[in-house]
Amino acid sequence: MPSVQDQIRSRRTFAIISHPDAGKTTLTEKLLLYTGSIQTAGSVKGKASSRHAVSDWMDIEKERGISVTSSVLQFTYDGYCVNILDTPGHQDFSEDTYRTLMAADAAVMVIDGAKGVEAQTKKLFKVCTLRHIPIFTFVNKLDHDARDPFDLVEEIETVLGIDTYPMNWPIGSGRNFKGVFDRASRRVLAFEGDGRANATKRVAEVEAELGDPALDELIGAENHQALADDIELLDGASEEFDLEAVQTGRLTPVFFGSALTNFGVEPFLKDFLRLAPSPLPYTDSLTGEKVDPASEDFSGFVFKIQANMDKNHRDRIAFLRICSGRFERGMDARHVQSGRKLKLATGTAMMADDRATVDEAFAGDVVGLFDPGIFSIGDTVCAGRREVRYPSIPTFAPEHFARVTQVDTLKRKQFVKGVEELAQEGAIQIFREVGGGMESVIVGVVGVLQLDVLERRLKSEYHVTVRRQPLPYTEIRWIQNGPDEVDVAQLNLSRDTCKVEDMRGGKLLLFTNEWNVNWALERNPGLRLSEFGNIA
Ligand code: GDP
Repeated sequence: MPSVQDQIRSRRTFAIISHPDAGKTTLTEKLLLYTGSIQTAGSVKGKASSRHAVSDWMDIEKERGISVTSSVLQFTYDGYCVNILDTPGHQDFSEDTYRTLMAADAAVMVIDGAKGVEAQTKKLFKVCTLRHIPIFTFVNKLDHDARDPFDLVEEIETVLGIDTYPMNWPIGSGRNFKGVFDRASRRVLAFEGDGRANATKRVAEVEAELGDPALDELIGAENHQALADDIELLDGASEEFDLEAVQTGRLTPVFFGSALTNFGVEPFLKDFLRLAPSPLPYTDSLTGEKVDPASEDFSGFVFKIQANMDKNHRDRIAFLRICSGRFERGMDARHVQSGRKLKLATGTAMMADDRATVDEAFAGDVVGLFDPGIFSIGDTVCAGRREVRYPSIPTFAPEHFARVTQVDTLKRKQFVKGVEELAQEGAIQIFREVGGGMESVIVGVVGVLQLDVLERRLKSEYHVTVRRQPLPYTEIRWIQNGPDEVDVAQLNLSRDTCKVEDMRGGKLLLFTNEWNVNWALERNPGLRLSEFGNIA
């Protein structure tokens, strides 16, 4: 039996970030192929007929064939226990996407070789840098025409502000894609795909050394020469590989490949597992000290709350990232925020093919705990003598707003209860218009799909019908000044700026553009505005 320390050392917990369509799902599928967890490609985000790697417990998910909530895939490979935290990325992009990154020890950033760094990648990257976690880059779709690799690497450096270290280097792209040169072994892995190798089969990778005449045959004399020139340039120009810089998120190792044809995926996985950290210590905000993941005492924090996983039970599941020690089903623990004692009776893990009950889990893992209605995002659960409390998770600025009004005025109570409970789960943020009534609220979301989810759930769970009116705001700012410093009613604002309050009475302004934010700052000397809310 491996010791708790060995169990924790073998863990790698990471999230994959990308702009929609860059190939996150395809890469995830291919990673799972190496593990035997699933045999059918297409099952991570399968449409109707394929098996779903993620549970489809909500109607809306079934209808659209996408996953609304993030889940966790766990598998073992080469002695490692790997947890992939799935970050919703399409229309289902939400605050959960950001929060999941708070529970990851590393991120894999997938970039489309033809498109480079795109908008959503930038946003997600920014969140990763809040915690300085290591970021590994996979430049995808080399089997399609891609941009010049020097260009791509430079774009990553300038747009994202991180140093790069290419671990391998592509030879051509699209129809002329011949493979990659591995810088550590100084060998070429030749691409033998015929462009149709989109199945579960692994593409054969043939190896040869740079300068070897056989390479002329393998990739063509011209390509061989061009590659030799590229590598000379690269060896001369690029940074040294610096593991410490990787581990603190200052340098990203870059891999080129093609997830669809499964080229370069396994070498990437191997290097990633070798270089990515085992579970990182989180800081206890009571003492300011880091909590050793391998310490005996179990602790963790809630980063996501999921309602209605089981229609028959109407339960809520709180997803807990274990930060230290060992979890055992049925163990006694404390919910730090309420001081309540709990029996952690139900642990569920989101496995590749099902929701399974876990009896045991370790630091780095994620478990789903049955929530009797006491958990909020960011709460700490711990066992053992010493109490710890993990820092709260920041509130991320919503980017879409709507006014939601109840249609049946007799149902005011249910309406208020519904929106408040749903806001507590953290998928939406609700605001009251200053001077507005109780029959409507302003809802802010990070991803627009959450507005559909809200409407649907208010109807099915609270029997409340609402009207939804999209609002043109795009910028949200919390007023940092105290009430004695700034009288919100007297602020000099552009006409299309809206004054609102959050659930805790915090004062905010909603703007239709960045220009109006500056306008407000210029006309109201001393006004201090922040993009992040008080903590969730
Ligand atoms: P996601 O939105 O980031 O999860 O992207 P998907 O994995 O769903 O991929 C988006 C599209 O790109 C799909 O049609 C994939 O088949 C395609 N795709 C993904 N990886 C590759 C690749 O390496 N080469 C090519 N040619 N297409 C790819």
